[in-house]
Amino acid sequence: MELIKRLGLNKNEVGNESHITVNLDICKNCIDKPCTKVCPAGTYEADKEKILIVHYERCVECGAALFACPYGSLKFKYPEKGISYMYG
Ligand code: SF4
Repeated sequence: MELIKRLGLNKNEVGNESHITVNLDICKNCIDKPCTKVCPAGTYEADKEKILIVHYERCVECGAALFACPYGSLKFKYPEKGISYMYG
């Protein structure tokens, strides 16, 4: 099966609690907010007042934001449910 078809079989089950935490005291002083630019799933967003919002349900567990954050504000644990690979 082609890779693109296999990826289409992945299933992401969202847990009830966020597996991502941020220190908003640190984030409020982060001007560029690189986490909002590197995440391919749009997990991180800044509102009108530049307050960081985390849409944990969008996370595909790639870890890009962990590497992009220059201040160590992000804490990540594997999600309660997460992505299931449905091909065998
Ligand atoms: S890059 Fe790090 S410090 Fe900056 S907004 Fe994102 S999580 Fe916060």
